[in-house]
Amino acid sequence: MMYDVCIVGAGLWGSSAARHASLPGRKVCLIGPSEPQEKDRPGRDIFASHYDAGRNVRKYHGYHHTRGSLTTKTFQSLLQLEATTGVKLNTKAGFMVFGKDIRSIMVPSAKTECLLLTAEGVCERYPFLDTSRYGDTAMLFPVDAGHANPRMIVRAQQKAAALQGCDIIDDVVESVGESGDHTHGEPLMRVVMEKGRPLLAKKVLLCTGAFTQLKNLLPSPTKLDLEIQGAFTVKLEVGEGDLEKFRTMPTMASHGDPEWDCYILPPIKYPDGKHYMKIGPMNDDERRLITLEDVKGWFLSQPDPKLVKNYKDILLAVVKGFNPVSVKTDMCVCSSTPTGLPYCDMVSPRLGLAVGGNGCGAMLSDEVGRMAAEMIAGGENWNRDIPREMLKAQFITSPSNL
Ligand SMILES: Cc1cc2nc3c(=O)[nH]c(=O)nc-3n(C[C@H](O)[C@H](O)[C@H](O)COP(=O)(O)OP(=O)(O)OC[C@H]3O[C@@H](n4cnc5c(N)ncnc54)[C@H](O)[C@@H]3O)c2cc1C
Repeated sequence: MMYDVCIVGAGLWGSSAARHASLPGRKVCLIGPSEPQEKDRPGRDIFASHYDAGRNVRKYHGYHHTRGSLTTKTFQSLLQLEATTGVKLNTKAGFMVFGKDIRSIMVPSAKTECLLLTAEGVCERYPFLDTSRYGDTAMLFPVDAGHANPRMIVRAQQKAAALQGCDIIDDVVESVGESGDHTHGEPLMRVVMEKGRPLLAKKVLLCTGAFTQLKNLLPSPTKLDLEIQGAFTVKLEVGEGDLEKFRTMPTMASHGDPEWDCYILPPIKYPDGKHYMKIGPMNDDERRLITLEDVKGWFLSQPDPKLVKNYKDILLAVVKGFNPVSVKTDMCVCSSTPTGLPYCDMVSPRLGLAVGGNGCGAMLSDEVGRMAAEMIAGGENWNRDIPREMLKAQFITSPSNL
């Protein structure tokens, strides 16, 4: 089979890219492994950063102008995607960031959209919240913010892509390289998979997130400046009787305490039918991972029980009157770039990439996927208002050294 565009990585960004790339007259495929069941995890080495039921999403990023431009476009597109696919994506719970002198970190566009609250004001509005241990201010975005289910975003993007003719292939790609074959004088790339037969494509786009350098997807010895951080979440089960009490709870993040900065999501229903509040660190409690074995080991491990207790205690200090029914943890990974922005760039004339979520890739996902899809198809204005320089991939060993 020969494709015009082969997208590797069926996660948040790749699935969006597949939807945007699948235009009439263009043959597109999206390759990536589906989420493993619990019993199959030990046999897997490629996982994903979106295996969860809740991700903070919002129209205004708040403290980063360029990310804000991407979040605003993504937020609008997810609303449209929800309408066209009928898959429910967003819960409009609002978003609140709290800490010391929060106003000073906000970009001007965000300031006009939010309410400035004192810690006391937070308590008046949400009697079950106490944010005072982090500082005396908070910014609340009551509308156009909340949480979305990343699995559902992936499902909706793939549903729309498939309806537009995209082939979706459940497999892991082992290697990508020049094939030596041509079509109408145009060179072709060869994509080798774990299970399926190799395929040929005019262009290949890597949307492989934290896993980009763990198989042979980039031309050797290219090395991207892309770190992998092992992250974890602590989920506290909310009893049925408590759900009404926390009904108005927004998604939240603290700012200004390097030791204990965290994000908190309100009660969300998980596939086991139970509701959990989730907390995760936004600091150095994330472990740096390098090899495929490191990453696999991380996904199959458990977080340090001391850290689990600490984050449980933080959540219970912020959310008052909450008696969790049970505690669960999840392991995950994030990829980060030195620019704090995604890389959306061509590595060679036929190989492009869109990677580097920096812990906020869900809320950027549709727009990064759109940019990458237009870039790989040779579009001129794919970057719109964001200078390409800002999205350029940075390398430790660059492809030009080959
Ligand atoms: C605990 C945690 C909490 C987070 N919270 C938020 C949040 O609240 N808001 C937010 O915006 N973001 C959040 N993020 C970040 C967000 O989930 C990621 O930035 C996002 O998933 C990145 O999307 P992606 O498509 O680049 O990567 P992924 O979603 O990981 O997708 C990459 C895909 O590529 C596939 N793949 C990799 N290698 C191969 C290969 N060789 N062959 C085939 N397929 C391959 C993987 O299986 C995966 O499906 C969080 C991340 C974590 C870990």
